[in-house]
Amino acid sequence: MNVHLIRTKGVDDELFYAVAAFLQSIPGPYMFHTPREPREPDIAEEIRLILPDDERYMRQERAVLCEMTLDYSSEPIRALSWDALFDICRKHRIKKKISEEDTVILLTDYGNHPNWFTGYDEQARNFFIHTEHWEMYTEGDSRYPIAYQVVSLLLKQMMFSRPSEMLASVHKHSKGCMMDFCEDKREIVLKLRTADICADCQKIVQHRNVPHAVLRYTLALFDDIRRQLLYRERYGMLRQESRLMVKGWNRKLYLPDLGMLPVNLSPTERAVYLLFLNHPEGIPVSHLSDYRAELIALMGRMSRRDDPQVIEQGVDELCRPLSNALSEKMSKIRRKFVDLLGDELADSYCIKGPNGGRKSIALPRVLVVHED
Ligand SMILES: [Zn+2]
Repeated sequence: MNVHLIRTKGVDDELFYAVAAFLQSIPGPYMFHTPREPREPDIAEEIRLILPDDERYMRQERAVLCEMTLDYSSEPIRALSWDALFDICRKHRIKKKISEEDTVILLTDYGNHPNWFTGYDEQARNFFIHTEHWEMYTEGDSRYPIAYQVVSLLLKQMMFSRPSEMLASVHKHSKGCMMDFCEDKREIVLKLRTADICADCQKIVQHRNVPHAVLRYTLALFDDIRRQLLYRERYGMLRQESRLMVKGWNRKLYLPDLGMLPVNLSPTERAVYLLFLNHPEGIPVSHLSDYRAELIALMGRMSRRDDPQVIEQGVDELCRPLSNALSEKMSKIRRKFVDLLGDELADSYCIKGPNGGRKSIALPRVLVVHED
C-alpha cells in the first residue's frame, strides 16, 4: 500500500522527515513516499555556510537542506478551505501520476475551517493533517501526534468505505479510542496517552477484515507513541536521561530510550559534538586548536565525499580565534537537542559553560553507548 506524504512550504524539513522516519521505524504494510530524501550537506558545503558575515548564509542553507516543497500561496492566509487543501493533493496526484488506489496525505501548517486536526476528501484517498499548535495539547515533539494521525486515518480508511460513514461512527464522548472525535481539542491528550482501539471499534476492524499486518503495525506504532509521551511527562519526576548512542563508521547519534530517536547533526556539528563527548573534563574554547588533530580525524569520518584539504580548512575555521564558527555550531547543536527533547531534558546533552570559558557536555558517560 503506497502512501505519499507531501507538505506545504511552512512545514520544515526536521518535522516532515522526522514524521516519515518514525512511520518507517517499524516494518509494516505501508510504503511511505516523500518527494525527495533529505541529504546531509558535505563539509565543503558547510564551510561555505559557516563563513562569518556571509549574507548568503541563510539562503544557502535552505538550498542545501530543502527539497521541492509545495508553495501553495505567498499570501499571509493562515486558514484554507478543505477544498483548497485537497486541491494540493489532487494536483500532486496528476503531476506524479499517482494511482487512485494510493493514498496522499498533506501535512500542512495552514489551518482550516472548521479548525480540525485532519480532513477527509469524499472524492479520493486524500487527507490533510494540520501540523501546528500541537505543543498546546501534548508534551514534547509534534512528530508523534502527527504520526498518530497518519496511522489512525490509514486504518480508518480500511474500516469504513466513505468518510461520511466514518464520521457517523465517531465517539462524541472521548473514551481514549482512536475514533474519539475530540470536539474539545484538549481531549486529544487522552487519545494519545491511551493510544487504543475500543471494543466497539475492534468489532468493526474484524467485520471489515482489516489485514493483520495493518493492525499489528498500527498498534505497535501506537505503543511507541504512548511510550514517547509518557517518557517526557515522567522525566520531571524521574530525572533519568536517555542513553546516547554513537553509531556506525560516520558516528550518527541516536537516543535509544526514546525509540532510537535520531539526532540529526550535520557532519561538522557531529565532529564538534563528539570532540566534547570525548572530553568530559571540558575544553576551553580558546584552546580548541590544541585538539586540531583529533578534530581532523573526527571530521574525516563524517563524510566520504570530502577531500582532506577541505576538512583541514573546516577545522581551521572552527579553531580560528576570532571566528564565530564554533559558537554557531554549538548553538545549532543546542537548538536541535531542545527541539527534540524540550529545554529541561536537553540540558544534559548540550555543550555548555561560561562565556569564553571551559565548555563541556554534562551527560554521564555511562549513558554513552558505541555501536559499529
Ligand atoms: Zn472506539
